[in-house]
Amino acid sequence: MEPPAPLLYRVPALLLLGLAACPGPEPAGPDVLLIVVDTLRQDRLEPYGDPGRPTSPALLALAEEAVTVEGLTSSSSWTTPSVATLFTGLAPAGHRMTRIEDRLEDPETLAARFRAAGYRTACVMTNPILRAEHARSWGWGLQQGFERWDNALALRPEPHRGITSGEVTERGLAWIREEEDGRPWFLVLHYFDPHLVYEDHPDLPFEDPDYEGWVQGGASQEVLRRHQAETSAADRRQLRAYYDEEVRGTDDAVGKLLSALRREGRLEDTLVVFTADHGEELAERGVIGHNHSLHTELIDLPLLVRLPGGEGGGRRLRCRLPLRDLYATILDLAGLPVPEGRGRSFAPVLRGEAPAEDRVCFSEVDFVPPLPGREEKRAALRSVIAGGWKLVENRRLPPGDPGRYRLFDLEADPGELRDRSGDPAQAARMDRLRALLESEPAWFR
Ligand SMILES: [Zn+2]
Repeated sequence: MEPPAPLLYRVPALLLLGLAACPGPEPAGPDVLLIVVDTLRQDRLEPYGDPGRPTSPALLALAEEAVTVEGLTSSSSWTTPSVATLFTGLAPAGHRMTRIEDRLEDPETLAARFRAAGYRTACVMTNPILRAEHARSWGWGLQQGFERWDNALALRPEPHRGITSGEVTERGLAWIREEEDGRPWFLVLHYFDPHLVYEDHPDLPFEDPDYEGWVQGGASQEVLRRHQAETSAADRRQLRAYYDEEVRGTDDAVGKLLSALRREGRLEDTLVVFTADHGEELAERGVIGHNHSLHTELIDLPLLVRLPGGEGGGRRLRCRLPLRDLYATILDLAGLPVPEGRGRSFAPVLRGEAPAEDRVCFSEVDFVPPLPGREEKRAALRSVIAGGWKLVENRRLPPGDPGRYRLFDLEADPGELRDRSGDPAQAARMDRLRALLESEPAWFR
């Protein structure tokens, strides 16, 4: 016969009995749809200005019933650290997903919070570096909290090729419909088409038919890298055209998703959050791709938030907000508690109950490609944005090297073309921003 359990261990059992006796609280939160588009530049989207062609009619329509935020800033310029920040509310130094082979140990993912609150949870993941099965060590851990982690599209033989956005929408809709059991749902759809390679969409006429250079729809990463340092204006226009076709194709798929939800009466009370993990350079500075720099085209993210009922639709907010605060914001908007140390919700700002104020934003990138012979691509950059200025530090250069810091006035020079770090009039500002950067734990030293 076993000795009686000490009181310490019996208390939880009594608590459980108590819970069983009275009915537990019904989960009452809204359904939550989080759309993440990989490699999506804010400035190619119609809600953020005029990209010169209809890249995003569905987003433009969504913006009429959503709050559009200008100023969400990613924690990095490539997928793994950015998505881990979105999923955990932690900076890269906190979640430690800073290499392609890293695993997430943190159990407090967004999905885990929703699941614990009684939600059913799923993710359709298309990025091959964030798949989980078949390569335990790649992106492993990000699937914590998801009842369904669907990465079939990421496991295709050539996941960077082809067009998958339509399938992402279909898979998401199928999951929403398949097992309605009265629980609210939390669904993450990770779209991938704007990521390299840029496919030609035969039904879209964005490319110049008279162009005769090397840029072709579906050109491999290798071809793009070979030519990236010496592009002509015509090459860049054609690159942008193919990229925009991928953006428009994704926008069409998101439009179909939202239309289907509306038709089925599921959209009205749903919280919809649309964002990206990072942007893309399209040879403006001699590079095609991401993870090489922390320039605006890489870390400035789109953010559209459709509050349940479309409350506050059509509003625009212009303020710097760090991606890591989106975790707390989503939980807060769903009425769920935010764990300690997980950023600061800006839900009151979205609802118009608090002023839109800039928050200090940190970003960093230290990417070592997994392939031998590509070490020259290694970056070790950190940046801080505060008071409308951005300081970028290149940690690969020794202290005292005049190239170690670059300073940009984001109001006067939003394209970050004019480095002001050598301007004696900015010395005090440089010191303040440098001190801010030093105060923030870095993932690399
Ligand atoms: Zn990405």
